[in-house]
Amino acid sequence: MPLRAYRMRNLHVGIIGLLWSTMPVCLAPHADANQILLIVYVSSGLIASSVVIAPTLLAAFLISVPVMLGTIVAMLMTRGSAGPVLAALVVVYSSLIFISTLHSHRSFIQRTVGKMEFEEQREVVGLLLREFEQESSDWLWRTDASNRLEHISERMIRVFGAVEGDLRGKDFVSLIFKLTDPAAAASAVTRLSEALCARDSFRDLLVPLTIQGRHCWWHITGKPMFSKDGTFRGYRGVGSDVTAAKQSQAQIAHMASHDSLTGLPNRFAFHEALAAAFAGPSHPFALLWADLDQFKDVNDTLGHAAGDTLLMEVAKRLVACVSSGDLVARLGGDEFVILLSGADSDSADTLAGRIIATVSEPYHVDGMRVGIGVSIGISVAPADAAASDELFKNADLALYRAKSDGRGTWRFYEADMDVRAQERRALQRDLRLALERRQFHLMFQPIVDLSLARVGTAEALLRWTHSERGLVSPDSFIRLAEETGLIVQIGEWVIRQACLEAAHWPGHTCVAVNLSPVQFRDTSLSSIVDSALSDSGLPPERLVLEITESVFLDADDGVLDTLHALRERGVSFALDDFGTGYSSLSYLRSFPFDKVKIDKSFVRDIAHHDSNLAIVRAITGMANSLGMTVIAEGVETEEELIVLRLEGCMHIQGYLFSRPLSASAIGPYVRMVAASGIHGGEAQSTQEALNLQTQ
Ligand code: C2E
Ligand code: MG
Ligand code: MG
Repeated sequence: MPLRAYRMRNLHVGIIGLLWSTMPVCLAPHADANQILLIVYVSSGLIASSVVIAPTLLAAFLISVPVMLGTIVAMLMTRGSAGPVLAALVVVYSSLIFISTLHSHRSFIQRTVGKMEFEEQREVVGLLLREFEQESSDWLWRTDASNRLEHISERMIRVFGAVEGDLRGKDFVSLIFKLTDPAAAASAVTRLSEALCARDSFRDLLVPLTIQGRHCWWHITGKPMFSKDGTFRGYRGVGSDVTAAKQSQAQIAHMASHDSLTGLPNRFAFHEALAAAFAGPSHPFALLWADLDQFKDVNDTLGHAAGDTLLMEVAKRLVACVSSGDLVARLGGDEFVILLSGADSDSADTLAGRIIATVSEPYHVDGMRVGIGVSIGISVAPADAAASDELFKNADLALYRAKSDGRGTWRFYEADMDVRAQERRALQRDLRLALERRQFHLMFQPIVDLSLARVGTAEALLRWTHSERGLVSPDSFIRLAEETGLIVQIGEWVIRQACLEAAHWPGHTCVAVNLSPVQFRDTSLSSIVDSALSDSGLPPERLVLEITESVFLDADDGVLDTLHALRERGVSFALDDFGTGYSSLSYLRSFPFDKVKIDKSFVRDIAHHDSNLAIVRAITGMANSLGMTVIAEGVETEEELIVLRLEGCMHIQGYLFSRPLSASAIGPYVRMVAASGIHGGEAQSTQEALNLQTQ
């Protein structure tokens, strides 16, 4: 109501009150006792009815207060002693009326405000719920006292993939049950049904469902509702689709236990499986540790993408080799492990053979045919080990043996492998100290130039005199030195020593130094060669560096740059052991070698082995056409010499002419040959005559 109208109304009410108040004042002075009582009675009635009828508290007072005052005044104006008593009674009566009016008015106000607030809250909640149902991915559900769905929202219809008629009035549990895979969700549905029967609250109950062919996960939360008298009225709840969260959880769990490239279990998962196998019933089981051979070559030559494709294919083949109860995992790189459950040595043996045959079958990567091999180390539990670490260590030792025995094969762990591994570690420790203990020396093996009848080159061959083991062959320590990186320091010593020695030889004799591929990874190689030449005063033309094809397998641009830089200084290069490695002509084209050394395995029995002869002939022909000198290594017999000579190979190294000679013997040998000339048939006797010191 506008303020003005409100005021006018109060004014009217006030005037009415004043008019009514005149009634007792005018009538009382002339009234007898009965009439006075009537006046008091009517006035009291007026006071009581005004507070009931008046629309507001103020209006009630505007009528009743003047009437009360008028009545009191009138009573005091009356003659006789009853007037003041009646006036007092009117005061008491009016006060009681006013107090009760004030009280009921206050309760009325409170009730009205409460009702208004409740309405407002209802409106807000309704608004929020509507918005929740429209905007959120969650949905509200509501059931009646018999747990049948009511209040079907749009969102709910959508998530159930149904129409409203399919949902309304349907039993909530049966509806959920219909959408679940009974085996997978039995426990969840049972818990839901139990909670509903017991009228318990439940929160985030996880239920797997299949809706219109899509697998999903819901969280269902519900709260029973009761009326004031405790009567159950049904459930109110919310459902959320947590499929995305569940999937990412599953993905994270999968990633933590699987190799991302091949999808196989990873090292972590394998260790867990192995620990479980040890903890389980004591059936024998085997660990096969497979390491790919030549994988690095594929990776280096065809690139990492091709390497990855190859690893995926290997993983598939490995899985195809084992049965469903066995576990294939990738440890990383080109290493795979297989846990063969309930297996004895025989079945591990059979499986290893099958794996080697399968993995060694050719692959087609990027349209190219690629061949790799695999070596396997096997350790069997509980015979070989009582714990997973030990089983791993033993399989590793067996793998090392398989690799040393020529790769492409498998070996079972044997107790003495441990002893050998310790020996290897001891050898490694001694090798580290060998340089400072001055345990190395060089021997020099002449390479005779038949056409000029002189020693054109002498190859420096490293020897290690161990304090306890005596003379250790380079075949048993060069690889160890390469694996530990010690070859870089040792190789530097060899280059410097070889140059110093060769500087004392007749000027026509070069010195050949073997270089390991590992030395090329060290960027200081060319500066080492430079300083070795300048310190010794040996002209670069008299230094030949022998490298094998394996240098190119690891090669990046840096390696080729080093090779070219050294060659530009006048140092020449020989490709050693040609024919044993990859014998790829591309290596010969990518770098201009000065010499090619035919490996001794092709020289052996060349007179009787047609295939060896054919290889030597091919290498000689190719080298001659590329303008390279051909050197035959390991020539031991006169017969071999004759055939090689006939094939046009005029540079000969081998026991036929000389075994490797000590540093003090090589100079006199070179001079002796230069002075007297040499012929194959005379070689042995010449050497004996000279009584030269050989190894
Ligand atoms: P290599 O470079 O092919 O050296 C030739 C090997 O053949 C030498 O063995 C030599 O003694 C042996 N040999 C020579 N003539 C005959 C023969 O008529 N019959 C037989 N059966 N063998 C013959 P050695 O000295 O044991 O060296 C073995 C390998 O060790 C070398 O093969 C080379 O690869 C490596 N090596 C030796 N010294 C060094 C070095 O200073 N640095 C590097 N990185 N490797 C070295
Ligand atoms: Mg050599
Ligand atoms: Mg060789």
